[in-house]
Amino acid sequence: MRLSETFLPTLKDPPADAEAASHKLMVRAGLIRQLGAGLWTWLPAGWRVLRKVETIIREEMEAIGCQEMLMPVLQPAEPWQKTGRYGIEEMFKLEDRKGSPLVLAMTHEESITHHVAQEVRSYRDLPLMLFHIQTKERDEPRPRAGVLRTREFTMKDAYSFDRDEQGLERAYELQSGAYARILDRCGLRWHRVESDVGMMGGSGAHEYMAPCAAGEDAVALAPGFAANVDVTDLREGDPGPEGGTVEIVPAIEVGNIFKLGTRYTEPLGATYLDEHGSEQPIVMGCYGIGPARIVAAAIEQGADERGIVWPRALAPWQIELVSLAKAGEDERKAADELYAVLRESGAEVLYDDRDRGPGEKLTDAELLGCPLRVVVGRRGIAKGVVEATERATGAEHELPLENAAGAALALLQAEDGE
Ligand code: ATP
Ligand code: MG
Repeated sequence: MRLSETFLPTLKDPPADAEAASHKLMVRAGLIRQLGAGLWTWLPAGWRVLRKVETIIREEMEAIGCQEMLMPVLQPAEPWQKTGRYGIEEMFKLEDRKGSPLVLAMTHEESITHHVAQEVRSYRDLPLMLFHIQTKERDEPRPRAGVLRTREFTMKDAYSFDRDEQGLERAYELQSGAYARILDRCGLRWHRVESDVGMMGGSGAHEYMAPCAAGEDAVALAPGFAANVDVTDLREGDPGPEGGTVEIVPAIEVGNIFKLGTRYTEPLGATYLDEHGSEQPIVMGCYGIGPARIVAAAIEQGADERGIVWPRALAPWQIELVSLAKAGEDERKAADELYAVLRESGAEVLYDDRDRGPGEKLTDAELLGCPLRVVVGRRGIAKGVVEATERATGAEHELPLENAAGAALALLQAEDGE
């Protein structure tokens, strides 16, 4: 992409009301813009990042045999009345022109269980694991911190349906493994902690916590040990259960998994006929993860004073190519050629071809935080080189002009191999 043609509005200053580093940086780097309280638009660069997270999630769900589908956000109120959740204050409610009550889904247990109740007849139809990546609407009492707590957001929510507790246990372990791979691939530091079952009901639950300053939750950490502060008596400075000392740190909840049991299948009549022809309630689990929170947590954990430092897998572009010359100058021609070769080789490259000063271009590149910055300038060209800088380490390299594209790609690959 040519930056001169890209909708990537950067800002020198963060929004006045922003406290979280991710909030400030996402706005300044031109990833997101606010439309209303807790309502955010993903601009093109931010949308690229969010889609990368969604792709990783999708791949890991499919790898454990979880099937993707899509359910509506606009839903009849009836299933929510049946499960006793129609009264939840965070739920947006409305009526259609005939006066029928509708809701905007804040999660999808009710709708998926409705379908399973309709379609699943016998033990032969089970087990089932289904997911979708869909918009959720919640009238949060306190939207905050950019995309960390919004009133509309996308969630990957998966649901498992089994004959018995043993089946649920198996599905839960599969999801747990997939969550570990998702968060590792997204480059996060994270902990799986036991949690309260809360409003979801059910028999067991874990949360996935990414430690960082903007976190609203708190986790107790010690070597080989992590717990939600709500479910442990351990306090800062206590001896850790496996040695060391307990430290309490703020963390973002990026995902959670629940053993729901029959909390939703019973009220919604989701049953199956077992081998003996007797009717049994289906045993259910649910597994949620927030792509926007993964993006924000990655920024919180990686950023430095100059801007975002993306994990490789999430970066909107792998390379930001910066031309320091103006259109028509010789050095510009060299940059144009390098851009063409990089594109032909399939590299994800953002090309800063704007007619702006070098200072502004280099500052913007650091703010956006692509893993490798390649600068084509007069001084380098005179020596027959371009300058490459790794965003994460600051390591600088001179790449020979005649094979700059190959050398740049090799640098990225070397980083991958670490
Ligand atoms: P929290 O305790 O932070 O309110 P939750 O328990 O309500 O989260 P779930 O309903 O289980 O969260 O949703 C699953 C995932 O969806 C969360 O782990 C989080 O990543 C994401 N999520 C939940 N609420 C929001 C929100 N308001 N804005 C952005 N992401 C959210
Ligand atoms: Mg909540």
